[in-house]
Amino acid sequence: KKEEWAKLVNEPSITKDGTRVELAANIGTPDDLSGVLDNGAEGIGLYRTEFLYMGRNELPDEEEQFEAYKNVLEKMNGGAVVIRTLDIGGDKELPYLDLPSELNPFLGYRAIRLCLEEKEMFRTQLRALLRAGAYGNLKIMFPMVATIEEFREAKSILEDVKNDLKQEGLQPAEDVETGIMVEIPSTAAAADIFAKEVDFFSIGTNDLIQYTMAADRMSEKVSHLYQPYHPAVLRLVKQVIEAAHNEGKWAGMCGEMAGEETAVPLLLGLGLDEFSMSATSVLPARSQLLTLTKEEAQELAAEAVNLPTAKEVEALVYEKGFIRS
Ligand code: PEP
Ligand code: MG
Repeated sequence: KKEEWAKLVNEPSITKDGTRVELAANIGTPDDLSGVLDNGAEGIGLYRTEFLYMGRNELPDEEEQFEAYKNVLEKMNGGAVVIRTLDIGGDKELPYLDLPSELNPFLGYRAIRLCLEEKEMFRTQLRALLRAGAYGNLKIMFPMVATIEEFREAKSILEDVKNDLKQEGLQPAEDVETGIMVEIPSTAAAADIFAKEVDFFSIGTNDLIQYTMAADRMSEKVSHLYQPYHPAVLRLVKQVIEAAHNEGKWAGMCGEMAGEETAVPLLLGLGLDEFSMSATSVLPARSQLLTLTKEEAQELAAEAVNLPTAKEVEALVYEKGFIRS
């Protein structure tokens, strides 16, 4: 198997009947890049920038961020790099930010909610991103967006920062695609509205599943309710992808689900354009795609979204012979 996978490092990600998708990798720091390149990922579907901010005593400055982003963009050599703006709060704390302690941190002050309040901090990150964007194929993504107003405000700050940079005689990247994580059910439910204004969606199933099922992804007592294959989750995913396509936009997924052997045929059938996963899952997924046709995946997905339980969805994928391991 390992040998079979190794042959696919420089091959395109394509199904048996010629449907092309993008297989990308998730990273936390530039150090993860060698694994990404060794495993033949075509791009970065999620760069979690919070790690730049964590485990230290003060905010990273613009220069430090610029260097980190530029490094990733250059090493990806023209491949798309989706960089997510700071997603802190919830379970991820920053000692130097003095965040309020909340009863429900996962429903609280985090990610884009925090960045829209801490404007200087946000602007510094956006400056670094736009400057680094000149060195590769950058796409900017905002996390935990729940309302279209949040997206509009973030976008307007981005435009403002771009103008500042130009006035200073610096050269910010032009035409950077700007998208959102779809990880809150309100955004999935209103995906058609968002699709008119964003350039792309990336579905964050790690959070989307916990919010849809109201089951903390870390809590053992309710972990049986954390069901990636629950028809409610699959229907939201389907709705988000269709909403994107209706507006001529692309839809990806950067939650853990995107790299699972059970999920790949379902997501292909639902029309997902980009799958972003841990680097080690890229070659197995590429090899799996070679065994699938778009048509049989579409039939599978159409049946799956109408089944009553996650167990039955998983059983269907298995019984139809989509699982090889
Ligand atoms: C997600 O929620 O699916 C996601 C990719 O973001 P994170 O795991 O960083 O919350
Ligand atoms: Mg998330």
